[in-house]
Amino acid sequence: MQNVRNKYRFAGHVIAAAILICLLLWLIHHRRQFSVDSGARRVMGTLARVVVVVQDRNQAAAAIQKAFDEIENVQILMNDRDPNSQLSEVNRRAFFEPVAVDDAVFEVLAASIEYSRLSDGAFDVTVGPVVLLWRQSATTGEPPAAEALAEARASVGWQSLLLDAEHKTVRFGKEGMRLDLGGIAKGYAVDRAIQAMRDLGVPGGMVDIGGNIRCFGQPAHYARHWQIGLQDPRHEQALLMTLVMDERAVATSGDYRRFAVVDGQRFSHIINPRTASSSQTLSSVTIIAPTAMQADALSTAVTVLEEQKGLALLDSIPETEAVLVKSSGELLKSRNADRFILTSDNNK
Ligand code: AMP
Ligand code: MG
Repeated sequence: MQNVRNKYRFAGHVIAAAILICLLLWLIHHRRQFSVDSGARRVMGTLARVVVVVQDRNQAAAAIQKAFDEIENVQILMNDRDPNSQLSEVNRRAFFEPVAVDDAVFEVLAASIEYSRLSDGAFDVTVGPVVLLWRQSATTGEPPAAEALAEARASVGWQSLLLDAEHKTVRFGKEGMRLDLGGIAKGYAVDRAIQAMRDLGVPGGMVDIGGNIRCFGQPAHYARHWQIGLQDPRHEQALLMTLVMDERAVATSGDYRRFAVVDGQRFSHIINPRTASSSQTLSSVTIIAPTAMQADALSTAVTVLEEQKGLALLDSIPETEAVLVKSSGELLKSRNADRFILTSDNNK
């Protein structure tokens, strides 16, 4: 009897010791973990924010700096409004001769062509001349002249964007072509910034450039997952829902942040390359995908494709989900989007 009692006591001690060791290991693992937020900084024509989870505060400043360096690098290369960017040089010269570009520019252009193919031309970075006309309309309040639109539209066509992978050069097959990477470059910059933080070995982080977001590793504030709030497209201060995710990207294209009012009507900054007019039926398109570049390009593509074709496209691409808000306010979700939506029952 005494023997059995001793055995139980011994087992009890072993369990208590095991619990203590687990607790110690947990404490060591989570030792002094801080979440540091860069705050909003103006870059790439919008606001960007980086959150980093570190064990040492000095590591945070370096990681945030590295992330913003990457973002600025992408801006310097790909900003079509800056005459000194590499993209502007391509826009000026590529009809006349092949133009050698940086690996980053080549990578984004090659990906852009892939998204044009996948979306049957709904996503098209050669839409630049039409975008320019609508940008002017945003300032004048007048719609573009029909002849000007027809002329601009004649220069659009991703099939005429010619890449030479061996020499890393770009050439335009049509006169008047103009590239605009506004629908993909921010996502690419987010991916670059995330990679830079990973390379520094920080435990976790999140990068947001104007609603193009990606997170990795340990979430901020000891949470179990990263949580990302989606703004209600028609009520600036209201949240539509909260997304819960790990190691993933999310991007929103919306007509509520950037739009033009022309003839009293609201126009989105996203152009349907077939009609050369602005896409109207979806107020906001949020895409969840493995990379921010993918989410960025697909959010623009689905806005143009509209609900039916847009959701069909996502069904054909693995690991992509969507939350759409129609102009009428109606909410639509892709097949497995609920996996990422926080509800009171799945309080993760
Ligand atoms: P996003 O906010 O990511 O949807 O990107 C919108 C930006 O992409 C616009 O401001 C334009 O610069 C550019 N854009 C507009 N329409 C298209 C399109 N059909 N395909 C690719 N880029 C586009
Ligand atoms: Mg986009």
